[in-house]
Amino acid sequence: MRAAVLEAFGAPMPVRELAPRDPAEHEVLVRTVAAPFCSTDWLGWRAMRGKIPPVVLGHTALGVVERCDGGTRAYGYGVGDLVVVAGTPQCDECFYCGIGRPDQCALLFERPEPVVATDRQGRPVRAAGGVGAYAELMVADRSQVWRVDSSLPATHLSLLGCGITTGHGAIVNVAQVRPGASVAVVGLGHLGLWCVQAARVAGAGRIIGVDLLAERRATAAALGATDLVDPAEHDPVEQVRSLTEGRGADVVVEAAGPELAVQQAVAMSRRAGTVVLTGVQWAEGRVCLPQNAIAIHGRRILSCQNGQSLLGRDLARCVALMESGVYDARPIVTAEYTLDQVNDALYASGEFRDLSGVITAFR
Ligand SMILES: [Zn+2]
Ligand SMILES: [Zn+2]
Repeated sequence: MRAAVLEAFGAPMPVRELAPRDPAEHEVLVRTVAAPFCSTDWLGWRAMRGKIPPVVLGHTALGVVERCDGGTRAYGYGVGDLVVVAGTPQCDECFYCGIGRPDQCALLFERPEPVVATDRQGRPVRAAGGVGAYAELMVADRSQVWRVDSSLPATHLSLLGCGITTGHGAIVNVAQVRPGASVAVVGLGHLGLWCVQAARVAGAGRIIGVDLLAERRATAAALGATDLVDPAEHDPVEQVRSLTEGRGADVVVEAAGPELAVQQAVAMSRRAGTVVLTGVQWAEGRVCLPQNAIAIHGRRILSCQNGQSLLGRDLARCVALMESGVYDARPIVTAEYTLDQVNDALYASGEFRDLSGVITAFR
């Protein structure tokens, strides 16, 4: 199979011919149809996510099942079915799946990224997130593969395992936004824009989009943001407070990653408000916060891996919202690439030129 391989951090990724490993009984071979380039992959490429080269990046994709030895009945899908391969597994066997928290599944956090192929020199090649989507084929654990029944464009459906379910989950599952609430979203990349849409659907009264880039603020306005804040213009914390009767927002979602954005997200929430942290820049990054703000002022500061999604439930909901036109992927898919253009997609992501660039041709 052809695959873009991260061989050295920060260097262009060559497209190599790899020999994929045969799937084990608990695994599925999936032919990739569309794979979004995500800021998560850019951070992996920059050595900020603890990847072990050689590794195929791409933490989610849409594909078609090519081989599924474990049996269609057991898995809910079979050869030829359209599926989402998600970066977050749900093994249903570990402690965390047992307590209803597959976002913390042991397969994701307690196993090294699996080897899925060998290169021409015979070196083992790993798959980022157990997916490795920037390749013609993916060998994925069956618990990461979900059937999707929809005729929406592949580029749109490919975002389901990434920004859509995470943004939807941040608002619906984690923050549990109530009708009329004020919601500020810090960072209007693809994830923040899904948060804006989910906040609109949840009935938020005021949706405040915060981003340095005018183009992204304009997209947020088109997708439902009622107010826009340019942090370069004036202190964004003051701006959000002035839009919320001086208190701060009921809910703030941080979807940017830098330490300053996390500090500002906490500061622009009201006392006894809710802060949802989805952004990570460095895996080992540190954030300094005032003790009064986090211990005395009653805030709920919530971690948000994968929107705490239960994909068996949330995937179908997100597809339904997309099919009815309530969730709109069109402004978020900003470019399509071939596998050979993977480095163009990489740089466009890192330079904030793309919201979601999607790789749609692999041969
Ligand atoms: Zn598990
Ligand atoms: Zn992603």
